[in-house]
Amino acid sequence: MNPDPSLSLQSFSGLENFGHSLRSSAWLHQPEQAGELPALFKLARQQGLSIALRGSGRSYGDAALNSGQIVLDLRRLKRVLAWDPARGRITVEPGVTIEDLWNYVLADGWWPPVVPGTMFPTIGGCLSANIHGKNNWVAGPIGEHVLEFSALLPNGRRVTCTPRKNGGLFRAMIGGLGMLGVFTSITLQLKPIESGRLEVNAWAEPNLEAMLAAIDAHKDCDYVVGWVDCTAGGRALGRGQIHTARYLHAAQDPQAEASLRVDAQVLPARMFGLVPRGWLPKLMAPFMNNLSVWAVNTAKYLASRTISHHKTYRQSLIEFNFLLDYIPGWERSYGRDGLIQYQSFIPKVRAAEAFAEILRLCQKAGLPSYLGVLKRHRPDPFLLTHALDGYSLALDFKVTPANRARLSALAAELDEVVLAAGGRLYFVKDSTLRAGSAKRFLGRRAVAEFKKLKTKTDPHNLLQSDLYRRWFD
Ligand SMILES: Cc1cc2nc3c(=O)[nH]c(=O)nc-3n(C[C@H](O)[C@H](O)[C@H](O)COP(=O)(O)OP(=O)(O)OC[C@H]3O[C@@H](n4cnc5c(N)ncnc54)[C@H](O)[C@@H]3O)c2cc1C
Repeated sequence: MNPDPSLSLQSFSGLENFGHSLRSSAWLHQPEQAGELPALFKLARQQGLSIALRGSGRSYGDAALNSGQIVLDLRRLKRVLAWDPARGRITVEPGVTIEDLWNYVLADGWWPPVVPGTMFPTIGGCLSANIHGKNNWVAGPIGEHVLEFSALLPNGRRVTCTPRKNGGLFRAMIGGLGMLGVFTSITLQLKPIESGRLEVNAWAEPNLEAMLAAIDAHKDCDYVVGWVDCTAGGRALGRGQIHTARYLHAAQDPQAEASLRVDAQVLPARMFGLVPRGWLPKLMAPFMNNLSVWAVNTAKYLASRTISHHKTYRQSLIEFNFLLDYIPGWERSYGRDGLIQYQSFIPKVRAAEAFAEILRLCQKAGLPSYLGVLKRHRPDPFLLTHALDGYSLALDFKVTPANRARLSALAAELDEVVLAAGGRLYFVKDSTLRAGSAKRFLGRRAVAEFKKLKTKTDPHNLLQSDLYRRWFD
C-alpha cells in the first residue's frame, strides 16, 4: 500500500544496480526541489520506513537500493546555482551530472578535476562515493576539490560544511554513502585547461610486475591507467596495456580553441567506422564467455604489442576519460544476470604479490574477470576512504544463476587476500563484502566515529540502503 498518496511516493517500483545483478522494489519518489525533503523525512518516520538516496543509479552494487523501503531519486535537483568563469568555481544541485558539468564549463576553459570512467553519475552520487579518476595519485578524490557543500540532515538541521567549518562532518559525508544527510548544493573548484584534447601514449607490458612498475614510472603524466588481460596465466599473468595522457597547452595544439567547444567533444557514432554503437551490446553478448574473452583479450594484447605499441596520438577529453560510454548499455552484454565489480586497493609494497594471488584465485575458480583495470592512488583524509598509497585493480565478473554462489565464495577468498595485504575495498563498486571485513579495513576508530556521527545526524536511522545494512549492521 502507498504510505501517503498525498506526498505522491510515485510507485512501488523495481530498481536495479548498474550491473543488473541485483533487483529490489521500493517506494520511489523524484522530488522536484530540495524543499520537499523535510516532509519526506517526516513521512518516512511516520510510516516506519527508511530512505535511500539515489542519483543516476550508476553504482555497480547496492549503494542506491533499499528493498521494500523508500528511494529518493534526486536527478531532478539539477540546477546550476552559481558559476564564476574567472575562478572556475561552480555551485550545483546534487542531480547535475558529470556530463552536465563539463558541458557547462568547457567553453570557458575549465574541466572537472576528477571524473569517473563514465559521464552519467550525478555530482551528489560522486561525492557520496568520493570518486577517484585515472589521476588519483596526483589529484586525490573529488572530495579534495569541494570548497563547500550544504546538506539537509535527517535530524532536521541544515548545515554548510567546508574543510574547516564543520570539518568532521565534511570528511564523513564525502564518501559517506548518503547515510548522514542529503547534499543539496555543492561548490567545486574546477581545473583550468587550454585545450580540449590530450596527448595519449599506449604500450604493452608483459606481466603484472612490469605493469605496476610502468604505472609508477609515469606518475609525472596527468593520467595513467592499465588494462589487464585477466585470462593470461604463467609468466604472462597480469600482462596488459598502459595508457598515459597529458593535458596540452594552447601553444602545443593548433586546434586548442575549437577543441574547447562542446560540439568538438563527441564519441564516435560507429565503432571501427562501421557498427552503430547502439548495436554493440547485442553483438557482444554471445562472446561473453571464458573462451571468447580469452580469444579477444589475446588478440587485443597482441595488437597492443604490435600495431599500437608506443603509439602517440591525440584524443578529446571525453574520448580518453569516458571510454566506457563508447558503447551505451554495454553492461547488458553480460546477459540477464548482469555483472558485479570487485575493486581492491593494495599498498604499493604488497600490490604485486596480492594482485597476482587474486588473478590466480579467479582463474583457479574458473571465473576470470572479463575486464581488469589498474590505477595508482594515494591516501586522503576522508573517514570511510577506500584510497591508500598503492594501486587498485577493478575486476568485472559475469553473473549467472550457476555461478552466483561460487562468485560470492571467490569474493570472500579475495577479501582475505586484500585484508591480509593491508588493503581496502570500494563500497560503491561492491556487491559481496561482509560486515566483519568492512570493519577490518576501516578500523575500529573510523567505524566508531562514523557511528557517533550517524547517531547525531540521523537519530532515527532514517537513511539506509541495502549496502548500509549489509556492512554496517
Ligand atoms: C561504467 C562506470 C565506470 C565507473 N568508473 C568509476 C571510476 O573510475 N572511479 C570511481 O570512483 N567510480 C567509478 N564508477 C562508480 C560511480 O562513479 C559511483 O558509483 C557514483 O557514486 C555513481 O553516482 P550516481 O549518481 O549514479 O549515484 P548512485 O549510484 O545513484 O548513488 C551512489 C551513492 O550516492 C548516494 N547519493 C546520491 N545522491 C546523493 C545526495 N544528493 N546526497 C547524499 N548522498 C547521495 C546514494 O545514496 C548512494 O550511496 C563507475 C561506474 C560506472 C557505471
